[in-house]
Amino acid sequence: MDEKYLCPACGTNRSRFNLIEQVVTPVRKDPTNGAIVEQVASGDPFQVPYRGESLRVQCGVCGVVEAEERFIKTAQRNSQPLANQSAPTP
Ligand SMILES: [Zn+2]
Repeated sequence: MDEKYLCPACGTNRSRFNLIEQVVTPVRKDPTNGAIVEQVASGDPFQVPYRGESLRVQCGVCGVVEAEERFIKTAQRNSQPLANQSAPTP
């Protein structure tokens, strides 16, 4: 989460984000009434485990939601030197 972000959609926002942590709860439901019958143990051979990203990010300016990786990759492709990092050149 300490990586720099840049919104892949609006391309300008580097500072305002909503972090969405994905909490996975494997369950088994009763198909007749929809009640949760049990929480499924991880490693249950009859249930495919979730393999999606654990963190999604929403741009706080345009509202797009993407995997955190997209925001990091976009920032890396469009890295701009910080103002206080380089001496002014003519
Ligand atoms: Zn955006």
